[in-house]
Amino acid sequence: MIALFFACTSTISQPNPAEGITVADLQRHVGVLASDEYMGRGTLEAGLDKAANYICEEFKRIGLQPLHPNNTFMAPFTMYKGGYGEKTALNLINEKTEKQIPTDQWTVFGFSDEGTVSSEVVFAGYGITAPEYEWDDYANLDVQDKLVLVLRREPDADNPSSTFNGTESTEHGYFQTKAMNAVKHGAKGMILVTDPAYTNPNENFKDRLELSFEQEIKKQPSQGPTFLAAHISQKEAEQWLGSGVLDSWQYKLDTGTPTSELRVHKHAATLTVERRSVGKEVTLYNVAGRLPATSGEEYPLQVVVGAHYDHLGGIEAPTDMIYNGADDNASGTSALLELAEAYSQISVRQREMIFVAFSAEELGLLGSKAFVNQIDTERVVMMLNFDMIGRNSEKEMSVIGDGFATDVAQIVTEANKNIDLRVELAGDDYFGASDHDSFFRKDRPFLFFFTGTHEDYHQVTDHADKLDYSQMEKVSRLGFEMLKPIVDGSITPTFIQHISWLGIKMIPGEKNIVSHVELGSRADKAGLVIGDELVAVGEETNSDSLPGLLKDIPTGKETNLRIQRAKSINTVKVTRAKTGYVGVYPSALSDEQREKLQIIDSEGVLIRGVSADGPAFKAGLKENDVILQIEGSSVVPMSLGKVLRKIGAGENVTLLILRNGERMKIDMVLGERPER
Ligand SMILES: [Zn+2]
Repeated sequence: MIALFFACTSTISQPNPAEGITVADLQRHVGVLASDEYMGRGTLEAGLDKAANYICEEFKRIGLQPLHPNNTFMAPFTMYKGGYGEKTALNLINEKTEKQIPTDQWTVFGFSDEGTVSSEVVFAGYGITAPEYEWDDYANLDVQDKLVLVLRREPDADNPSSTFNGTESTEHGYFQTKAMNAVKHGAKGMILVTDPAYTNPNENFKDRLELSFEQEIKKQPSQGPTFLAAHISQKEAEQWLGSGVLDSWQYKLDTGTPTSELRVHKHAATLTVERRSVGKEVTLYNVAGRLPATSGEEYPLQVVVGAHYDHLGGIEAPTDMIYNGADDNASGTSALLELAEAYSQISVRQREMIFVAFSAEELGLLGSKAFVNQIDTERVVMMLNFDMIGRNSEKEMSVIGDGFATDVAQIVTEANKNIDLRVELAGDDYFGASDHDSFFRKDRPFLFFFTGTHEDYHQVTDHADKLDYSQMEKVSRLGFEMLKPIVDGSITPTFIQHISWLGIKMIPGEKNIVSHVELGSRADKAGLVIGDELVAVGEETNSDSLPGLLKDIPTGKETNLRIQRAKSINTVKVTRAKTGYVGVYPSALSDEQREKLQIIDSEGVLIRGVSADGPAFKAGLKENDVILQIEGSSVVPMSLGKVLRKIGAGENVTLLILRNGERMKIDMVLGERPER
């Protein structure tokens, strides 16, 4: 009886803390964080401070302790702000006046060089030369050493039967294509103005924030002749040219008047672009709290739960110009708060728990990159990252990271039994476009919960009313349940090192044990088998440094690996191959293309052309295909070389590509870069 009595009270006073994770709470957090008052939570903007403050207040209410030695939840880190120096200016001149354009009415294009151009301005229509559409704005136009003024988009862009691909944009509509065309015709610079017919241009003249961990800013040396490019507001253009001028020009262009007949008289401009070479020191803040372990250990192992709370910011404007970021990532931040609250109800924790809201994720995972250098990551046995968990309830949620740590797939599956969320475990596929990547790079076990991208991704329309809160409840509860066996100490996941050039996986530790050998890989050919222990790489025998050494071994050099199997030690010789070669002319996707194709920032190599008889040609890749991943690694032109170095010449690889809007897989053999 007594036992029963106690059992009853304990169930009454201690309900499952997971039940405290509710639709209502999640809705409340998202409602606040994604509200217009928070102005899209842009880094170094007031809205982000408000969000940080909200998270601090929640952490305090929940009863977390500050993590940072400054004894507040605000965990600062220092960065250096690049961008444009004071000399950067645009002056527009007409017969009557010269006016310096206020900074909120114009912006420099990222691809602009530095320097000054002061010249007469020539109107160059849409700035397009497209023989395939029998269109040339530069016909009979002398723009040599001058500034050109061009309209945004393409002729007749809102007409579904326009020769320029109807209402869809062709590449001629891209800013960079227009700039390249102006350079080709000898112009020194380009001033672009949104064409008056464009009803929803989403113009934002805020400078793109450039932040670096280094104070000294490395500049890209410019290629070819110096060319400056700027984008001005319609309002300023109208004032400069006279009201109604742009409308009438666009009408005339679209109805067949040659561009050369549309003249600007005595209009000139001076454009100066200067980039900072020494960054300005700024302080950013992660928000971090902890629930101490109840074990009494001085340095307990740690479980980190994270989500970025920043987004793209916004401006006050007549039309909606606030990037509310409800899914990205008010959704994940809300899950973070709910997990903190639920875990604060648990009385026994073998692990210390850290709850951290990262800042500046959108600018390149800056908050988490700083954070992993402020803590002792060796103690972290699991990092769970929530980023975008509120949409696509008709699809499966992606769980990334289960192939990179022991036990993880099993605990997720087990935890999901009562929750019944549709999940897809990514296994060995890696997707690094969020803050877990900073932990992955430190060889820490991680999981990334992500319900996928959508048409409102990085748009001003990522609003709170579009989220599925009951899905978010399930995702958060899955996170809670999944962490339980780790927090209570019954399971300690270990990172699994993937050494892709060799074709093995290894569980690092006091003994480095091969846990997987890929069929047909170098390791397989060298005779390695599962269970082999790596005891030396070349002369190095320190077990801690072996996995890293092996992973980053230089190419072309034969290396001895010493392997212990049962009681015998063998030496095998392996050589990492040269960088793999695909044989395509890669180019970056513009923001417009990403938007149209719904491709996330970390993926996408647009194929401009395919080398004759190269590996890509043989595998059937075509111009305008977009490579998203190679062997599960996301690629952009910047990271392509790194991935190909890793994989090496002669390897069989699977490419995930996008062709005519369809995702498909293509197998190919990487070649070796031909001599030239
Ligand atoms: Zn984002």
